[in-house]
Amino acid sequence: MDYEDHLEQSKVQQSRLKGALSFRSKDIGNYTVGRTLGKGSCAVVKLGIHRDTGKQVAIKIMKPRSLREQKEALREVEALNRLSHPNITRLHQVIREEGYTCLILELGVGGELFERVMDCGKIPEGEARVLFRQILSGVQYMHANLVAHRDLKPENLLLDEYGNIKISDFGLSNIIKPGKLFSTWCGSPVYTPPEVVLRQQYNGIAMDIWSLGVILYVMVTGGMPWRLESNVVKNIDDLIEGNYDIPDFLNVSKDCKELIGMMLVADGTKRASLEQLMNHKWTCAGFEGAPASFIEPKPLVNVINENAFAQLEGLGYDLEVARKQIQTVPTSPALTAYYHLLAKHRRLQKVNSCSPEDAKLVNSPDQYLNTISRTRSKSHPTPKSPLATRKISLSSLDTKIDISLDEEKPSSKKKEKSILRTLLDRFRKPSAKRNSREVPRPVSMVVAHNSPSPPSRRRY
Ligand code: ADP
Repeated sequence: MDYEDHLEQSKVQQSRLKGALSFRSKDIGNYTVGRTLGKGSCAVVKLGIHRDTGKQVAIKIMKPRSLREQKEALREVEALNRLSHPNITRLHQVIREEGYTCLILELGVGGELFERVMDCGKIPEGEARVLFRQILSGVQYMHANLVAHRDLKPENLLLDEYGNIKISDFGLSNIIKPGKLFSTWCGSPVYTPPEVVLRQQYNGIAMDIWSLGVILYVMVTGGMPWRLESNVVKNIDDLIEGNYDIPDFLNVSKDCKELIGMMLVADGTKRASLEQLMNHKWTCAGFEGAPASFIEPKPLVNVINENAFAQLEGLGYDLEVARKQIQTVPTSPALTAYYHLLAKHRRLQKVNSCSPEDAKLVNSPDQYLNTISRTRSKSHPTPKSPLATRKISLSSLDTKIDISLDEEKPSSKKKEKSILRTLLDRFRKPSAKRNSREVPRPVSMVVAHNSPSPPSRRRY
């Protein structure tokens, strides 16, 4: 990513953050809004206290203005709706108010892993192992549910009151499609793999694994694998070629170095799989085995739908092994992935056997639609529209259109964007101008000589 791109992206993000910061209300739904917990690239996150129960939550406030921002907000909801794991921030509710989209999230009271690293200098390997096992467990679960995070970094790894990991910020996540690569450039440059930096098409799973490598490096060394200057990788060739060093004086164990080396592999196709990482000797040392898999048991498959099953190959599964697993292991990632593929296959079958209008309604995840309609605020009644007679609210419909955008099909994307634009125009209400105060974000960076650069806090 060159400097011009950086500037352009920062400008867009600053304006998005400014929009979110203009939120002034003292209440959102049943929650009283409290202090600011953090600011991201496009959202402000505040403490929320439930008025009846006193339960504390985090409220992520966004003000999506363009279609792209709308799409990102909805992606985060779609991804979180698929996930229920002890190390992944849970989404409780979505509230839309006066142009703001507010995600009511499980609270990560212990702050960011980034802060922990900054406080400790580096995290002792024993503690780093416990945290990394939780991260691996969460990432395995999300990948099995076909979600690629695409922005894994210590700032997005929160801690709860017991110091357990909560993976957060799914704003750049996307649904993994078998055999399809992503092409949208995203992530934070210092945590993104060479193929993304080089703007090539990339595999979301391999991208996350590279980021895990940088995260483990940061945890056990307290620095970055690449030398940074003004928060930008100084010698981009180092990153592109996967050249990094772990100085001896940092006393990182041989096994840990080996594990990092399995993730920071320049060629994405040669990076270790999550299974290899979870079963590596460093990961398992002192434990009975690999990190716990929280993949919910699913009914085993007796009669295999071969069309859906064949797509597992496009997700990187060995079909012979996967066939056995989906028939014998109720908690296998392959079985979870198979069920997602089967659901998609069935939706597509329905699409092919109905009119184009109905097809659009069918091709949307029901679970997601339910959440949005459940939490819809009374101030946004469902507009009267011929489409409303299809037993589906317009709020759900715009959601559906957005999340069904196909990155690989520009023509369908264009068409759906124009439909979404029309629907959003109908929704748009004139909102009172508010005073906004932008709080400058400190960017501190000290590059130590002969030691890895400290991790960058800058948000891209
Ligand atoms: P963005 O998508 O704009 O980058 P994030 O989701 O990363 O925003 O949130 C920004 C910051 O807010 C985080 O780095 C963190 O400090 C804080 N934050 C986010 N989610 C939570 C949460 N669930 N609990 C506590 N703090 C949170």
